[in-house]
Amino acid sequence: MADCPYCSEPTIKERIVVSNELAQAFPTNIPIVPGHVLITPIRCVAIFEELTSKELEAIFDLRSKLKIALINCFGAEGFNYAWNEGRLAGQSVPHFHLHMLPRKSGDTGITEYKPRKFLYRPGSREQSPQSELLVITELIQKHL
Ligand SMILES: [Zn+2]
Repeated sequence: MADCPYCSEPTIKERIVVSNELAQAFPTNIPIVPGHVLITPIRCVAIFEELTSKELEAIFDLRSKLKIALINCFGAEGFNYAWNEGRLAGQSVPHFHLHMLPRKSGDTGITEYKPRKFLYRPGSREQSPQSELLVITELIQKHL
């Protein structure tokens, strides 16, 4: 879709960390912790039910690869996974995306796990510059 940033924004294409035939992953521009990535289907669909079983498999394949990379790269000891579905629930980009956050003891970012505290809202966090995100992209790629 032309108006979808995940489909049309060149800065996102530039920082794709890993992809397969049906899915891709890249660092979010508003990270909660370093290494916070989004995994999306290549096809532009908004909600979980629109994903085919092959696309789900492709998304989980990337999740497995990224898990190892994020452990090696950021010392992750645990992970948060989340997706927002529907505008009311805070889905600002209508292209399904699974948030994957590497967590470790003493890190900053989320310390509360209630959905209202956990899920970021537009304007509540500063964007990271593309140059920093590209460093993260390269770092994760080295660990894949
Ligand atoms: Zn899209």
